[in-house]
Amino acid sequence: MGAGWIVGAAVTGLLIGSFLTVVTERVPAGESIVAPGSRCGACGLRLGPLDLVPVFSWLALRGRCRRCRTSIGIEPLVLELGTAALFVAIVLRFEDSVETVAFCVLVAGLLALSWIDLRIKRLPREISYTTLAIGAPLLVVAALVDDEPRRIWTMVLGAVLATLFMWAVHVLSRGGMGDGDVRLSPLLGAYLGWLGLAYVPVGLFLAFLAGSIVGVIGMIVGRAGRRTALPFGPFLALGTVVAVFVGDAIIDRIWPTV
Ligand SMILES: [Zn+2]
Repeated sequence: MGAGWIVGAAVTGLLIGSFLTVVTERVPAGESIVAPGSRCGACGLRLGPLDLVPVFSWLALRGRCRRCRTSIGIEPLVLELGTAALFVAIVLRFEDSVETVAFCVLVAGLLALSWIDLRIKRLPREISYTTLAIGAPLLVVAALVDDEPRRIWTMVLGAVLATLFMWAVHVLSRGGMGDGDVRLSPLLGAYLGWLGLAYVPVGLFLAFLAGSIVGVIGMIVGRAGRRTALPFGPFLALGTVVAVFVGDAIIDRIWPTV
C-alpha cells in the first residue's frame, strides 16, 4: 500500500471528524446537520468556510471565536485528530478498498455516539441506525467483491445475536443497561459477525470487561456509587474497535483450531 492511501485516510478523517463535531452538537438537539451553517455558541457569529478547515483553523485561532474570543474548547481538535488516527489504522488493517470504507463508516458512527454518550448519556437512535444503513450495504458489497458470500449471513446472524444478548441484559438489569445500548447492538453485531461469528462474543466481552474495570475504579475513588449509571456506549464502541483490530489474535488463543 502506498503512502497516498495513508495521507488520503488522514485527510478524509480530519474532514469527517469536523463533520462529526457538527453531528454531535446538532443531532441530540434535533437540529438539521446540513443547514444553516455553524455559529459561535456565545456571540452567534456565523462560521465561514475557512473556520471549518479541520485542525488548522483551530490552531490559527487557538480554539477561540474570531469575534468574541470565547473558547470553543479543545473537543473539535480531539475529535478531528481521533477520527484521522482511526481512519489511518483502518486503512492499515484492511487495505481492501470496500472494506476500508465500510469500517471507516463504523468508527465514524461509534465516535459520534461515544462523544454524545459521554456528554449527555444518550445514544441517539438516528446515528445508530444511519450508521448501520450506510455500513451494511457496504459490507454486503465487500463480501461479494471478496467472493465470500458467507459473510453476509454471519453479518445478519451477528446483528441478531448481539441484539438478543443486549436486550436480555437490558431486561434483566431492569433498565440499568439503557435501551440506547440495545439499539446500538445491531450495528456492532453486524460488523463483528461479518468478520466472523466468534468476533461477536469477543467484542461484547471486551466491552463488559472495560466497563467493569472503569466501574470498579470509579467506586474505589468514590466518584461513582453502586447505582451511578455509567454511559455504556463508549465501552461498547471500545470493545468493538479492539475486536476489529486484535480479535483474530484473541480468537486464535481461545480456539486455536478454528
Ligand atoms: Zn463568538
